[in-house]
Amino acid sequence: MAIPSPALDLSFEVFPAGSETGRAGLAKAVSTLARLNPRFVSITHGADGSDQNRTLGTIDALRIENPTLGLAGHLTMRGGSKGEILATAEDYAAAGARWIVALRGDAPDGAGGRFAPHPHGFQSSPELIAGLRERTDLRIAVAGYPEAHPESLGEQSDLDHLKRKVDAGADTIITQFFFDNDDFYRFVEKCRGAGIDAPIVPGIMPIANFGSISRFAARCGATIPARIADRFEKAEARGAAHDLALAICAGQCDDLREQGVRAFHFYTLNRADLTLAVCQALGCDSSAPVDGERSPIAQPQTAMRVSA
Ligand code: FAD
Repeated sequence: MAIPSPALDLSFEVFPAGSETGRAGLAKAVSTLARLNPRFVSITHGADGSDQNRTLGTIDALRIENPTLGLAGHLTMRGGSKGEILATAEDYAAAGARWIVALRGDAPDGAGGRFAPHPHGFQSSPELIAGLRERTDLRIAVAGYPEAHPESLGEQSDLDHLKRKVDAGADTIITQFFFDNDDFYRFVEKCRGAGIDAPIVPGIMPIANFGSISRFAARCGATIPARIADRFEKAEARGAAHDLALAICAGQCDDLREQGVRAFHFYTLNRADLTLAVCQALGCDSSAPVDGERSPIAQPQTAMRVSA
C-alpha cells in the first residue's frame, strides 16, 4: 500500500525554460510532480545573474498554475550589487516564493575558473546569507558538497566555510548530487562533528541521459562509480537505460531511507517521468491534494551512523 507522501519530504529542482515548448514541458512536469506534495519546487538562477528575470518569471508562472505549491528561487551573488541581489530576493518573495537557495555561483568560465565577486556585491556566500536573513523572511537553503567542491581548500576549510553559512542564517543544506551513499553518510557525520546541526538534504540526480550526466558530474566533481557506468553501457546497448536509471535511483533513495533519511531533493532537469517513478517506487502517493502550507523542516536530519 502506498505510504502518504508527507512520510517523505520532497523537493524538486527545475530550471527556467528558454522556449515556448520548453515552458509547456516544464509546466506539465511541475504539475505532475506537484501531486507528490513536495515541500517546494526550486527554480535555478543563471550563473551570471543575467537571467534572474527568467527565474522570477518562472516562479510567477508556476505559482499561477499551481497556487498552493511551495516555491523556491535560487539566487547567486554574481552579477549584481548587494542592493540588486536583495531586491531580487524581495521580488521572489513578492512572486510567491517562500524559500531561497542562496549560492555564491560559479566563475564565468565554469566550475574550474576562479570566482571574483561583483565590486559592489556580497564578497562571500556567508555574507549573502546574512544579508538575506536580515532583509527577508524567506527560509534559506544553501549548498553542501559530499565529495568536496572543485575549489575546495581542504576538508577542515570546507567544514568551517559551511558552518559559517549555517551560522549566518541558513535553515537547510542541500547537497550536490552523488552516486555513492557512503560519501553522503561520511559528509553528514563530519558536519555533525563540526557542530553543523542544520538538516542536510541529499541531492538526487536520476540518470536520464548517461552521457550528459557524466559530463555534468565531471564538471561538478561528482564521481560516477564504475559499477554504474558499466551497467549503463550494457543497458543502452539493449535499450534498457530508463529501467536501469529507475532501478539505480530508487535503490539509492531506498538505502538512504533505510539509514533514516526522510528528505530528498531531486534534480529533475525539467522531466517528471523518472523522478515520479522513483518517488512512486519509494511508496509516495501521487494522488494527495497539494498542500503548500507545510511546516518548515524542523529537526536536524539524522541517519544511522550519523549523530545529530
Ligand atoms: P560556497 O559554498 O561559498 O563555495 C564553494 C566552495 O568553495 C566551498 O564548498 C569551499 O570548498 C570553497 N570556498 C569558497 N569560499 C571559501 C572560503 N572563504 N573558505 C574556504 N573555502 C571556501 N549554480 C548556479 O549558477 N545557479 C543555481 O541555481 C545553482 N543551484 C545550485 C543548487 C545546489 C543544491 C547546488 C549544490 C549547487 C548549485 N549551483 C548553482 C552551483 C553552485 O553555484 C556552484 O557549485 C558554485 O561554484 C558554488 O556556490 P556555493 O554557494 O556552494 O559556494
